[in-house]
Amino acid sequence: MESLNPFIDTRLLVIKIGSALLVDPDTGQLRSDWLSALSSDISAIRKSGVKTVLVSSGAIALGRTRLGLIGKKLTLPEKQACAAAGQSLLTQAYETALNTYDINTAQILLTLNDTENRRRWLNARATIGALLELGVIPIINENDTVATDEIRYGDNDRLAARAAQMLGADTLILLSDIDGLYTSDPRNNSQARHLNLIEHIDNDILEMGGTANAKTGMGTGGMATKLAAAQIATQAGCYMCIMDGRENAPITRLVNGERCSWFKASHNPKDARRQWIGGHLNAKGLLTIDSGAEKALENGKSLLAAGVVGADGSFEKGDTVQIMSQSGREIARGLISYNAEETRKILGKSTVQIAEILGYDYGAALIHRDNLVMSL
Ligand code: GLU
Repeated sequence: MESLNPFIDTRLLVIKIGSALLVDPDTGQLRSDWLSALSSDISAIRKSGVKTVLVSSGAIALGRTRLGLIGKKLTLPEKQACAAAGQSLLTQAYETALNTYDINTAQILLTLNDTENRRRWLNARATIGALLELGVIPIINENDTVATDEIRYGDNDRLAARAAQMLGADTLILLSDIDGLYTSDPRNNSQARHLNLIEHIDNDILEMGGTANAKTGMGTGGMATKLAAAQIATQAGCYMCIMDGRENAPITRLVNGERCSWFKASHNPKDARRQWIGGHLNAKGLLTIDSGAEKALENGKSLLAAGVVGADGSFEKGDTVQIMSQSGREIARGLISYNAEETRKILGKSTVQIAEILGYDYGAALIHRDNLVMSL
């Protein structure tokens, strides 16, 4: 298959490193040999002219060890304390390992708002872009210390995909403790089949990710979040790979053909603004629409209030909402032109009734087609 050798075809590579690779789950100690071998991989990639960004977990795991909390169930403030104590160790570890190869590193801590607010997104993009131009390797993590549940990613898979999308990366590699996507969970099903290549992410593929948590649609860092990451990355024209990165020198092994799952980049990436809307992680509301509206959206039309049968959540004008079918399938995401209270008053009503009911209108469409992105 084409374009799968990161050393040859990629200009900008994002590598996501899971906690279990960097920190020994039993001892809580940094896996220094593994990190040295990864640094050698990164140095080789760099010499071949590929820019690299790392998204690394491990702050909480290292902080646990530092603060004597290994094996303890942590409260949210304790987790945040561990993240604060561990993040400096994490940065130090990368700095030491990469400096051996004369590579400078820089720490970037992002919160969900940095990618969900367009201005902050553009700002973060400019900073990371400048670092790359200066030959520095940015090391991104979530700013766990200040992020509370409602405003956090919680997993670095989607954070890495948003970063790849933000930077226009060609390839995203998720280094994990599983060698890719299986038709069902291989831990419970011996018949589960490994998939080498996923050309298109459809509902069948999404179901292979397992049952999702009802509120966010995610289990932290599981296959569901990896598939959500794959959707964001591939729609941005970026190839994504899930591989088992536990053994030393995973990137060298990947180039040498180690088994993994590749997700093919879309040949027609959505424009930058649509990618940003479609990849939004914190939809503020949920609209349920009837089958007529579903057809209209499929034909590229705007969403009118008449086709909406339900509106949940508290959202403001301009927020991102999910648009669901009556059977509960996500159809699209979009930036809504009315707030939640207004939407509940006008749903099911024809366009001419909007001004009568509200005393004003912001246009005929509840969500204009320019602000809509289909989900699959
Ligand atoms: N940001 C968390 C950490 O550094 C990890 C999140 C994840 O596991 O994906 O510990």
